[in-house]
Amino acid sequence: MAIVEGDIVLARCGGTTYEGVLMPSTTGKTVVKLKNGYNIGLEPGNVTLELIDKKSELKGPQIELPAPNPKLPNISILSTGGTIASKVDYRTGAVTSQFTAEDILLAIPELTEIANYNARVCYSILSENMRPEYWVKLAEEVNNEIKAGADGIIITHGTDTMMYTAAAIAFMIKTPVPIVFVGSQRSADRPSSDNAMNAICAAKVAVSDIAEVTVVMHGSTSDDFCHIHRGAKIRKMHTSRRDAFQSINSRPLGRVEYPSGEINTYLDYKRRGEQELSINTNIEPRCTLVKYTTGASPEMLLFASANYKGIVLEGTGLGHVSTEWVPYIERTTQAGVPVIVTSQCINGRVCDRVYDTGRDILKAGALEGEDMLPEVALVKLMWALGQTSDFDEVKKLMLTDIAGEMTRSSRTSGVIHNNF
Ligand code: GLU
Repeated sequence: MAIVEGDIVLARCGGTTYEGVLMPSTTGKTVVKLKNGYNIGLEPGNVTLELIDKKSELKGPQIELPAPNPKLPNISILSTGGTIASKVDYRTGAVTSQFTAEDILLAIPELTEIANYNARVCYSILSENMRPEYWVKLAEEVNNEIKAGADGIIITHGTDTMMYTAAAIAFMIKTPVPIVFVGSQRSADRPSSDNAMNAICAAKVAVSDIAEVTVVMHGSTSDDFCHIHRGAKIRKMHTSRRDAFQSINSRPLGRVEYPSGEINTYLDYKRRGEQELSINTNIEPRCTLVKYTTGASPEMLLFASANYKGIVLEGTGLGHVSTEWVPYIERTTQAGVPVIVTSQCINGRVCDRVYDTGRDILKAGALEGEDMLPEVALVKLMWALGQTSDFDEVKKLMLTDIAGEMTRSSRTSGVIHNNF
Protein backbone atom coordinates (compact mmCIF):
# COMPACT_ATOMS: atom_id res chain seq x y z
CA MET A 1 0.00 0.00 0.00
CA ALA A 2 1.34 3.46 -0.89
CA ILE A 3 2.61 5.56 1.98
CA VAL A 4 1.12 9.06 2.13
CA GLU A 5 1.46 12.07 4.42
CA GLY A 6 -0.30 11.47 7.70
CA ASP A 7 0.55 7.75 7.77
CA ILE A 8 2.44 6.30 10.72
CA VAL A 9 5.76 4.99 9.50
CA LEU A 10 9.03 3.43 10.57
CA ALA A 11 11.81 5.44 8.96
CA ARG A 12 15.19 3.69 8.79
CA CYS A 13 18.16 5.97 8.23
CA GLY A 14 21.88 5.29 8.80
CA GLY A 15 21.28 2.42 11.22
CA THR A 16 18.69 4.32 13.30
CA THR A 17 14.94 3.73 13.26
CA TYR A 18 12.40 6.47 13.86
CA GLU A 19 8.68 5.88 14.38
CA GLY A 20 6.23 8.70 13.76
CA VAL A 21 3.85 10.43 11.40
CA LEU A 22 5.04 11.24 7.89
CA MET A 23 4.72 15.00 7.49
CA PRO A 24 4.62 17.27 4.45
CA SER A 25 7.99 18.77 3.65
CA THR A 26 8.94 22.10 2.11
CA THR A 27 12.69 21.39 2.23
CA GLY A 28 12.97 18.21 0.18
CA LYS A 29 13.76 16.23 3.35
CA THR A 30 11.66 13.33 4.58
CA VAL A 31 9.99 14.76 7.68
CA VAL A 32 8.69 12.52 10.46
CA LYS A 33 6.83 13.83 13.52
CA LEU A 34 8.17 11.73 16.39
CA LYS A 35 6.05 10.55 19.31
CA ASN A 36 7.63 13.23 21.52
CA GLY A 37 6.13 15.89 19.24
CA TYR A 38 9.33 17.02 17.55
CA ASN A 39 9.91 16.76 13.80
CA ILE A 40 12.99 15.14 12.32
CA GLY A 41 14.19 15.83 8.74
CA LEU A 42 16.00 12.94 7.01
CA GLU A 43 17.88 12.85 3.70
CA PRO A 44 15.43 11.06 1.36
CA GLY A 45 18.20 9.16 -0.42
CA ASN A 46 19.21 7.47 2.86
CA VAL A 47 15.72 6.66 4.17
CA THR A 48 13.53 3.63 3.78
CA LEU A 49 9.96 3.91 4.99
CA GLU A 50 7.80 1.10 6.31
CA LEU A 51 4.07 1.61 6.81
CA ILE A 52 2.86 0.98 10.37
CA ASP A 53 -0.65 2.42 10.22
CA LYS A 54 -2.77 4.51 7.89
CA LYS A 55 -3.55 8.24 8.37
CA SER A 56 -3.34 9.00 12.07
CA GLU A 57 -5.72 11.96 12.01
CA LEU A 58 -8.56 9.99 10.50
CA LYS A 59 -8.88 7.81 13.58
CA GLY A 60 -11.81 8.54 15.81
CA PRO A 61 -11.50 9.37 19.50
CA GLN A 62 -9.88 6.60 21.55
CA ILE A 63 -12.12 7.04 24.59
CA GLU A 64 -15.79 7.64 25.21
CA LEU A 65 -17.02 10.55 27.29
CA PRO A 66 -18.55 9.27 30.54
CA ALA A 67 -22.26 9.76 31.20
CA PRO A 68 -23.03 12.97 33.16
CA ASN A 69 -22.58 12.63 36.92
CA PRO A 70 -25.53 14.27 38.74
CA LYS A 71 -23.25 15.04 41.71
CA LEU A 72 -20.93 17.23 39.62
CA PRO A 73 -21.56 20.86 38.59
CA ASN A 74 -22.39 21.67 34.98
CA ILE A 75 -19.90 23.67 32.96
CA SER A 76 -20.38 25.04 29.46
CA ILE A 77 -17.29 25.16 27.29
CA LEU A 78 -17.51 27.70 24.49
CA SER A 79 -14.71 27.24 22.01
CA THR A 80 -13.50 30.13 19.88
CA GLY A 81 -10.32 28.55 18.47
CA GLY A 82 -6.65 29.31 19.03
CA THR A 83 -3.85 26.94 19.96
CA ILE A 84 -5.78 25.28 22.77
CA ALA A 85 -8.31 24.11 20.21
CA SER A 86 -5.72 23.22 17.58
CA LYS A 87 -4.12 20.15 16.16
CA VAL A 88 -1.54 19.46 13.54
CA ASP A 89 -2.93 19.34 10.05
CA TYR A 90 -1.05 16.49 8.40
CA ARG A 91 -1.90 17.88 4.98
CA THR A 92 -0.07 21.16 5.46
CA GLY A 93 2.06 20.44 8.52
CA ALA A 94 0.68 23.59 10.14
CA VAL A 95 -1.12 23.87 13.44
CA THR A 96 -4.72 24.68 12.62
CA SER A 97 -7.71 25.48 14.71
CA GLN A 98 -10.06 22.62 14.02
CA PHE A 99 -10.78 20.81 17.27
CA THR A 100 -14.32 20.99 18.55
CA ALA A 101 -14.87 21.72 22.21
CA GLU A 102 -15.82 18.05 22.68
CA ASP A 103 -12.46 17.05 21.29
CA ILE A 104 -10.88 19.00 24.13
CA LEU A 105 -12.67 16.76 26.63
CA LEU A 106 -11.59 13.66 24.79
CA ALA A 107 -8.02 14.89 24.73
CA ILE A 108 -8.06 15.86 28.43
CA PRO A 109 -10.15 13.20 30.17
CA GLU A 110 -9.22 14.55 33.67
CA LEU A 111 -11.69 17.35 32.98
CA THR A 112 -14.57 14.94 33.27
CA GLU A 113 -13.73 14.32 36.96
CA ILE A 114 -14.34 18.00 37.74
CA ALA A 115 -17.70 18.67 36.09
CA ASN A 116 -20.20 17.69 33.46
CA TYR A 117 -19.76 19.63 30.25
CA ASN A 118 -21.92 21.08 27.59
CA ALA A 119 -19.42 21.89 24.85
CA ARG A 120 -20.06 24.15 21.86
CA VAL A 121 -18.02 25.72 19.10
CA CYS A 122 -18.75 29.44 18.76
CA TYR A 123 -15.85 30.18 16.43
CA SER A 124 -12.95 28.26 14.95
CA ILE A 125 -10.58 31.12 14.48
CA LEU A 126 -7.12 32.23 15.43
CA SER A 127 -7.64 35.11 17.79
CA GLU A 128 -6.06 37.68 15.49
CA ASN A 129 -9.28 37.24 13.50
CA MET A 130 -11.52 38.09 16.46
CA ARG A 131 -13.78 41.10 15.92
CA PRO A 132 -15.82 43.32 18.26
CA GLU A 133 -19.06 41.93 16.80
CA TYR A 134 -17.86 38.43 17.74
CA TRP A 135 -17.50 39.63 21.36
CA VAL A 136 -21.18 40.53 21.25
CA LYS A 137 -22.22 37.11 19.99
CA LEU A 138 -19.95 35.41 22.51
CA ALA A 139 -21.46 37.46 25.35
CA GLU A 140 -24.94 36.42 24.19
CA GLU A 141 -23.87 32.77 24.12
CA VAL A 142 -22.44 33.07 27.65
CA ASN A 143 -25.65 34.72 28.82
CA ASN A 144 -27.76 31.94 27.27
CA GLU A 145 -25.64 29.22 28.89
CA ILE A 146 -25.92 30.82 32.34
CA LYS A 147 -29.66 31.33 31.89
CA ALA A 148 -29.93 27.65 30.92
CA GLY A 149 -28.36 26.69 34.25
CA ALA A 150 -24.59 26.47 33.68
CA ASP A 151 -22.69 26.60 36.99
CA GLY A 152 -19.67 28.04 35.24
CA ILE A 153 -18.38 28.92 31.79
CA ILE A 154 -15.03 28.14 30.16
CA ILE A 155 -14.14 30.06 27.02
CA THR A 156 -11.22 28.65 25.06
CA HIS A 157 -9.49 31.39 23.10
CA GLY A 158 -6.28 32.13 21.22
CA THR A 159 -3.83 33.84 23.50
CA ASP A 160 -2.86 36.73 21.22
CA THR A 161 -6.00 38.80 21.71
CA MET A 162 -7.49 37.05 24.72
CA MET A 163 -7.07 40.20 26.81
CA TYR A 164 -9.36 42.18 24.49
CA THR A 165 -12.11 39.55 24.51
CA ALA A 166 -11.85 38.91 28.25
CA ALA A 167 -12.11 42.66 28.91
CA ALA A 168 -15.08 42.98 26.53
CA ILE A 169 -16.98 40.14 28.22
CA ALA A 170 -16.13 41.62 31.64
CA PHE A 171 -17.70 44.95 30.59
CA MET A 172 -20.71 43.32 28.93
CA ILE A 173 -21.79 40.79 31.55
CA LYS A 174 -22.50 40.90 35.26
CA THR A 175 -22.23 37.28 36.23
CA PRO A 176 -23.43 35.15 39.14
CA VAL A 177 -21.07 32.29 38.12
CA PRO A 178 -17.40 32.03 37.08
CA ILE A 179 -16.57 32.90 33.45
CA VAL A 180 -13.08 31.62 32.75
CA PHE A 181 -10.94 32.28 29.68
CA VAL A 182 -8.20 29.79 28.92
CA GLY A 183 -5.72 29.30 26.13
CA SER A 184 -2.42 27.66 25.50
CA GLN A 185 0.90 28.88 24.27
CA ARG A 186 2.04 25.54 22.89
CA SER A 187 -0.09 23.13 20.92
CA ALA A 188 -1.06 19.66 22.10
CA ASP A 189 1.42 17.90 19.80
CA ARG A 190 4.38 19.46 21.64
CA PRO A 191 5.86 17.85 24.73
CA SER A 192 5.87 21.22 26.50
CA SER A 193 2.21 21.87 25.73
CA ASP A 194 0.42 23.79 28.44
CA ASN A 195 -3.06 23.03 27.15
CA ALA A 196 -4.07 20.19 29.49
CA MET A 197 -2.87 21.82 32.70
CA ASN A 198 -4.38 25.20 31.79
CA ALA A 199 -7.72 23.58 30.91
CA ILE A 200 -7.81 21.54 34.15
CA CYS A 201 -7.01 24.63 36.25
CA ALA A 202 -9.64 26.61 34.31
CA ALA A 203 -12.22 23.94 35.11
CA LYS A 204 -11.30 24.17 38.82
CA VAL A 205 -11.93 27.92 38.71
CA ALA A 206 -15.14 27.43 36.73
CA VAL A 207 -16.57 25.32 39.57
CA SER A 208 -15.18 27.64 42.28
CA ASP A 209 -16.77 30.53 44.14
CA ILE A 210 -15.01 33.17 41.97
CA ALA A 211 -17.94 34.65 40.02
CA GLU A 212 -15.94 37.01 37.84
CA VAL A 213 -14.53 37.07 34.32
CA THR A 214 -11.04 35.64 34.72
CA VAL A 215 -8.15 34.35 32.65
CA VAL A 216 -6.42 31.18 33.88
CA MET A 217 -2.98 30.43 32.46
CA HIS A 218 0.36 28.94 33.57
CA GLY A 219 1.83 30.86 36.52
CA SER A 220 5.42 29.68 36.10
CA THR A 221 7.57 27.83 33.62
CA SER A 222 6.97 24.60 35.51
CA ASP A 223 3.76 22.62 35.62
CA ASP A 224 3.06 23.59 39.23
CA PHE A 225 0.34 26.26 39.27
CA CYS A 226 -1.82 28.54 37.17
CA HIS A 227 -2.56 32.14 37.95
CA ILE A 228 -6.13 33.45 38.03
CA HIS A 229 -6.13 36.93 36.48
CA ARG A 230 -8.93 39.48 36.29
CA GLY A 231 -10.13 39.66 32.68
CA ALA A 232 -9.66 43.42 32.42
CA LYS A 233 -6.23 43.52 34.07
CA ILE A 234 -4.07 41.17 32.03
CA ARG A 235 -1.63 41.24 29.21
CA LYS A 236 0.27 38.63 27.24
CA MET A 237 3.84 39.67 28.06
CA HIS A 238 5.84 37.12 26.12
CA THR A 239 5.52 35.64 22.65
CA SER A 240 6.10 32.02 23.58
CA ARG A 241 6.64 31.39 27.29
CA ARG A 242 3.94 29.40 29.00
CA ASP A 243 3.77 31.93 31.85
CA ALA A 244 3.31 34.79 29.40
CA PHE A 245 0.13 36.16 30.98
CA GLN A 246 0.57 38.62 33.80
CA SER A 247 -1.77 40.82 35.78
CA ILE A 248 -0.69 44.42 35.23
CA ASN A 249 -1.03 47.06 37.94
CA SER A 250 -2.55 44.44 40.21
CA ARG A 251 -1.70 41.15 41.82
CA PRO A 252 -3.37 38.20 40.17
CA LEU A 253 -6.70 37.41 41.79
CA GLY A 254 -5.32 34.07 42.92
CA ARG A 255 -3.74 30.81 41.90
CA VAL A 256 -4.67 27.18 41.30
CA GLU A 257 -2.17 24.58 42.48
CA TYR A 258 -1.51 21.73 40.07
CA PRO A 259 -2.31 18.89 40.21
CA SER A 260 -4.16 19.28 43.55
CA GLY A 261 -6.53 21.95 42.18
CA GLU A 262 -6.41 23.89 45.46
CA ILE A 263 -7.32 27.53 44.96
CA ASN A 264 -5.78 30.40 46.94
CA THR A 265 -6.88 33.99 46.39
CA TYR A 266 -4.97 37.23 46.96
CA LEU A 267 -7.71 39.76 46.29
CA ASP A 268 -11.32 40.17 47.30
CA TYR A 269 -13.66 38.96 44.60
CA LYS A 270 -17.34 38.62 43.70
CA ARG A 271 -18.78 35.41 45.13
CA ARG A 272 -21.03 32.94 43.33
CA GLY A 273 -24.59 34.28 43.31
CA GLU A 274 -23.55 37.72 44.60
CA GLN A 275 -24.59 39.46 41.37
CA GLU A 276 -27.70 39.00 39.27
CA LEU A 277 -27.04 37.96 35.68
CA SER A 278 -27.25 40.95 33.35
CA ILE A 279 -25.93 41.62 29.89
CA ASN A 280 -25.25 44.85 28.07
CA THR A 281 -23.65 44.29 24.70
CA ASN A 282 -24.11 47.73 23.17
CA ILE A 283 -20.78 48.83 21.79
CA GLU A 284 -19.39 51.40 19.39
CA PRO A 285 -16.62 49.52 17.56
CA ARG A 286 -15.43 52.66 15.78
CA CYS A 287 -12.80 53.51 18.39
CA THR A 288 -9.06 53.38 17.96
CA LEU A 289 -5.77 53.34 19.81
CA VAL A 290 -3.20 55.89 18.69
CA LYS A 291 0.33 55.38 19.92
CA TYR A 292 2.45 58.47 20.31
CA THR A 293 6.02 57.97 19.14
CA THR A 294 8.86 60.48 18.93
CA GLY A 295 8.39 62.66 15.87
CA ALA A 296 4.93 61.27 15.06
CA SER A 297 2.73 63.69 13.16
CA PRO A 298 -0.25 65.03 15.14
CA GLU A 299 -2.23 64.78 11.91
CA MET A 300 -2.79 61.16 12.91
CA LEU A 301 -5.30 62.61 15.35
CA LEU A 302 -7.12 64.43 12.57
CA PHE A 303 -7.47 61.19 10.66
CA ALA A 304 -8.55 59.35 13.80
CA SER A 305 -11.15 61.91 14.81
CA ALA A 306 -12.60 62.01 11.28
CA ASN A 307 -12.99 58.25 11.19
CA TYR A 308 -13.61 57.16 14.78
CA LYS A 309 -15.98 58.03 17.60
CA GLY A 310 -13.44 57.70 20.38
CA ILE A 311 -9.66 57.66 20.73
CA VAL A 312 -7.33 56.11 23.26
CA LEU A 313 -3.96 57.80 23.17
CA GLU A 314 -0.97 55.79 24.33
CA GLY A 315 1.35 58.50 25.54
CA THR A 316 4.83 58.47 27.05
CA GLY A 317 5.63 58.01 30.78
CA LEU A 318 2.96 59.69 32.89
CA GLY A 319 0.82 60.17 29.78
CA HIS A 320 2.44 62.80 27.59
CA VAL A 321 2.64 63.68 23.92
CA SER A 322 4.68 66.34 22.15
CA THR A 323 3.45 69.92 22.66
CA GLU A 324 2.59 70.17 18.98
CA TRP A 325 -0.10 67.50 19.51
CA VAL A 326 -1.98 69.57 22.10
CA PRO A 327 -4.00 71.79 19.69
CA TYR A 328 -4.95 68.65 17.75
CA ILE A 329 -6.21 67.01 20.95
CA GLU A 330 -8.26 70.13 21.60
CA ARG A 331 -9.77 70.06 18.11
CA THR A 332 -10.62 66.39 18.61
CA THR A 333 -12.33 66.76 21.98
CA GLN A 334 -14.15 69.91 20.81
CA ALA A 335 -15.52 67.88 17.93
CA GLY A 336 -17.08 65.59 20.58
CA VAL A 337 -14.58 62.74 20.19
CA PRO A 338 -13.31 61.65 23.62
CA VAL A 339 -9.55 61.22 24.04
CA ILE A 340 -8.39 58.92 26.85
CA VAL A 341 -4.72 59.07 27.75
CA THR A 342 -2.88 55.89 28.75
CA SER A 343 0.82 55.13 29.05
CA GLN A 344 3.39 53.22 27.05
CA CYS A 345 4.88 52.18 30.40
CA ILE A 346 2.04 49.71 30.96
CA ASN A 347 2.94 49.58 34.65
CA GLY A 348 1.86 52.57 36.72
CA ARG A 349 -0.76 55.28 36.58
CA VAL A 350 -1.23 58.15 34.16
CA CYS A 351 -0.85 61.52 35.80
CA ASP A 352 -1.03 64.58 33.59
CA ARG A 353 -0.87 67.05 36.44
CA VAL A 354 2.87 66.88 37.07
CA TYR A 355 4.43 68.46 33.97
CA ASP A 356 3.31 71.35 31.77
CA THR A 357 2.60 69.11 28.77
CA GLY A 358 0.33 66.96 30.89
CA ARG A 359 -1.60 69.96 32.20
CA ASP A 360 -1.97 71.27 28.64
CA ILE A 361 -3.28 67.88 27.51
CA LEU A 362 -5.91 67.97 30.25
CA LYS A 363 -6.82 71.57 29.37
CA ALA A 364 -7.30 70.37 25.79
CA GLY A 365 -10.04 68.09 27.07
CA ALA A 366 -8.29 64.73 27.30
CA LEU A 367 -9.04 62.36 30.16
CA GLU A 368 -6.53 60.40 32.23
CA GLY A 369 -7.00 56.65 31.81
CA GLU A 370 -5.75 56.02 35.37
CA ASP A 371 -3.92 52.67 35.50
CA MET A 372 -5.85 50.99 32.68
CA LEU A 373 -3.97 49.11 30.02
CA PRO A 374 -4.26 50.93 26.67
CA GLU A 375 -6.11 48.04 25.01
CA VAL A 376 -8.48 47.70 27.96
CA ALA A 377 -9.18 51.45 27.80
CA LEU A 378 -9.98 50.95 24.11
CA VAL A 379 -12.45 48.12 24.76
CA LYS A 380 -13.98 50.12 27.60
CA LEU A 381 -14.35 53.19 25.39
CA MET A 382 -16.17 51.08 22.78
CA TRP A 383 -18.49 49.84 25.52
CA ALA A 384 -18.97 53.31 27.07
CA LEU A 385 -19.82 54.84 23.69
CA GLY A 386 -22.27 51.98 23.19
CA GLN A 387 -24.08 53.10 26.36
CA THR A 388 -24.32 56.80 25.59
CA SER A 389 -23.14 59.33 23.05
CA ASP A 390 -23.22 62.11 25.62
CA PHE A 391 -19.61 63.30 25.96
CA ASP A 392 -19.81 63.96 29.72
CA GLU A 393 -21.56 60.65 30.40
CA VAL A 394 -18.86 58.80 28.45
CA LYS A 395 -16.23 60.58 30.53
CA LYS A 396 -18.03 59.62 33.71
CA LEU A 397 -18.20 55.95 32.67
CA MET A 398 -14.53 55.97 31.69
CA LEU A 399 -13.63 57.15 35.19
CA THR A 400 -15.85 54.54 36.90
CA ASP A 401 -14.45 51.12 37.65
CA ILE A 402 -16.82 48.74 35.85
CA ALA A 403 -15.04 45.39 35.85
CA GLY A 404 -11.94 45.75 38.01
CA GLU A 405 -10.06 47.47 35.18
CA MET A 406 -8.95 50.41 37.33
CA THR A 407 -7.36 50.11 40.73
CA ARG A 408 -7.83 53.16 42.87
CA SER A 409 -4.76 52.68 45.00
CA SER A 410 -1.37 53.23 43.44
CA ARG A 411 0.22 50.86 45.89
CA THR A 412 -0.62 47.88 43.72
CA SER A 413 0.48 49.84 40.68
CA GLY A 414 4.02 49.63 41.98
CA VAL A 415 4.35 45.94 41.08
CA ILE A 416 6.44 45.56 37.97
CA HIS A 417 6.40 42.12 36.44
CA ASN A 418 9.72 41.59 34.74
CA ASN A 419 10.70 38.25 36.14
CA PHE A 420 11.57 36.66 32.80
N1 GLU B 1 -2.19 33.50 17.08
C1 GLU B 1 -3.08 32.48 17.45
C2 GLU B 1 -4.17 32.97 18.39
O1 GLU B 1 -3.99 33.86 19.18
C3 GLU B 1 -2.40 31.29 18.04
C4 GLU B 1 -1.73 31.59 19.34
C5 GLU B 1 -2.45 31.04 20.52
O2 GLU B 1 -3.54 30.53 20.52
O3 GLU B 1 -1.83 31.15 21.53
O4 GLU B 1 -5.24 32.43 18.31
